[in-house]
Amino acid sequence: MAVETDCLFCKIVAKEIPAEIVHETDRTLAFRDINPQAPTHVLVITKGHHADAGAVADADEGLADEMLKAARTIARKEGVAEEGYRLVFNTGAAAGQTVFHAHLHVLGGRDLRWPPG
Ligand code: 5GP
Ligand code: ZN
Repeated sequence: MAVETDCLFCKIVAKEIPAEIVHETDRTLAFRDINPQAPTHVLVITKGHHADAGAVADADEGLADEMLKAARTIARKEGVAEEGYRLVFNTGAAAGQTVFHAHLHVLGGRDLRWPPG
């Protein structure tokens, strides 16, 4: 599994930085965003280091699928699956990505506007 020593989310996987973990699978970890933008704001990450969603798509078989399934499970656990929730991969700096270890935002618990800006 690829690890980057200077990567914030690799450090969360390694338990070097604490996070409130809500879900875990063989290849994914999910924890609450430190600066939540909605009542439910969870980040699903890959345990291995992949820079962004495109790299995840190019990576191991079924890894992107595992992230999506994790998000589905979290939405149900958080009680937002029925009313609706949003899944976001900010991919690249122009799209607002600030942490270059792929993460899927799971947002819910309030009305979410569109377009996101
Ligand atoms: P991005 O802007 O890259 O799509 O999202 C990065 C997200 O990571 C932001 O929503 C930010 O609040 C969150 N974040 C940054 N540092 C930490 C941290 O140390 N712990 C947690 N739990 N979330 C973080
Ligand atoms: Zn990383």
